[in-house]
Amino acid sequence: MKTVSSILNADLHCHSVVSDGTLSPEALAARAAANGVELWALTDHDEISGQHRAAAAAQAHGLKYLTGTEISITFAGQTVHIVGLGFDPDDAALADGLRRTRGGRGQRAQEMADGLAAVGIRGAYEGALKYVGNPELISRTHFARFLVEAGVCRDTSEVFRKYLTEGKPGFVPHRWATLRDAVGWIIDAGGIAVIAHPARYSFSANEEYALFSEFKAHGGQAVEVVTGSHSAVEALQYAETAREFGLAASRGSDFHSPDESRIDLGALPLLPGTLTPVWELLEDRIR
Ligand code: AMP
Ligand code: MN
Ligand code: MN
Ligand code: MN
Repeated sequence: MKTVSSILNADLHCHSVVSDGTLSPEALAARAAANGVELWALTDHDEISGQHRAAAAAQAHGLKYLTGTEISITFAGQTVHIVGLGFDPDDAALADGLRRTRGGRGQRAQEMADGLAAVGIRGAYEGALKYVGNPELISRTHFARFLVEAGVCRDTSEVFRKYLTEGKPGFVPHRWATLRDAVGWIIDAGGIAVIAHPARYSFSANEEYALFSEFKAHGGQAVEVVTGSHSAVEALQYAETAREFGLAASRGSDFHSPDESRIDLGALPLLPGTLTPVWELLEDRIR
């Protein structure tokens, strides 16, 4: 029954060194298992090259696994994240789309470093590179780690607030994939598309309505309700949105690092029992 399924300790959102996390896929699998996670997905940004490692490590711990990724898209002028779950990790079109999405990151990083140099912070590109686990995936998180190391800020959230968000010196606007493409790549690879952490965006009510309706129209089927990025009130709010749009609900910590993440793997509140958990739609793809 639904209540039984929603009490599953599923954690379907986290990051490894393949994107901007600090742990290997193997270390994450061990941590998830130790924390009592019962169903896990590694969802590196714009990357699926850690999927076979994650699945093998999960299996070694007797941990059920779903393939995952988190795709960066641009919608109504903002960056939105679309999680994909349960796709074929060897799908060529998905891999190709993600490779193109990653393509602009090198140039963007150079421009971010130029912006930081203009306010007196030198060597940020080289500094960020030291933290990068995957040369195709240099991200703002790596710059944030360097700025903390350099003593510019006390922690990474202060770096984002002062340097790496819209209007700040290290922010470079970027055009990612489209909503249609990202949802299409996931579905064509046999997976399910999920709107990640909807409370993190600053859309107007009309823009958010457009995001959810277009996502549905493209075949999207789920939304993150319980995530490390949502307060309890936001989780309730998006539980209502899920019901309104007929979407299944997902749950994921968005864990990046033992030193930085507020919520550890598996340490989230449960999904409200009245929603359809996304894993009910993915039963045949759980390994
Ligand atoms: P990028 O894909 O290079 O734009 O980097 C986005 C990543 O930066 C996100 O996936 C988060 O890991 C991190 N991030 C974004 N905003 C914040 C914030 N306010 N505080 C800490 N980390 C953040
Ligand atoms: Mn991240
Ligand atoms: Mn995200
Ligand atoms: Mn994430």
